[in-house]
Amino acid sequence: MENCLFCKIIRGEIPSTKVYEDERILAFRDIAPQAPTHILVVPKAHIGSVAELNEENAQVVAHIFATIAHIAEQEGLVNGYRVVSNCGPDAGQTVGHLHFHVLGGHELTLQMA
Ligand code: AMP
Repeated sequence: MENCLFCKIIRGEIPSTKVYEDERILAFRDIAPQAPTHILVVPKAHIGSVAELNEENAQVVAHIFATIAHIAEQEGLVNGYRVVSNCGPDAGQTVGHLHFHVLGGHELTLQMA
C-alpha cells in the first residue's frame, strides 16, 4: 500500500527502532510510548485491521502471537504485559494497518473502555 505509514516503515522508507523482523512480520518501538515498554507488531502484508482478517490471511496472527511471547521474554516483561489491537474509529485506531500493541514494564491500569 503506497501511502500506508506502517507499509512505509516495513519498506524502510520511514525509520523505526526494530525489535524483531522475519519474512512475515515486523516489530518496532512505538514512537509515543504509553508504557515503559511499548512495541507494535505488524504483518508485512497489508491488512487494514482485525476487521479484515479471514480464513485466508489470519495465519499470520498466530505467528504474531507466538513471536510476542518471545519478544516479551527478550524485553524482560516477567510480570506480564498487555496485547491490544484497536479496530476502527470507535476503538481509536489511527493507523490503518493491522497492528498489535505490546505494553508492559509497569503495572497497567485495568481500564478497558
Ligand atoms: P492505533 O492508535 O491503535 O492505530 O496505534 C497506532 C500507533 O502507532 C500509535 O500508538 C502511535 O504512537 C504509533 N505510531 C505512529 N507513527 C509511528 C511511527 N512513525 N513509528 C512508531 N510508531 C508510530
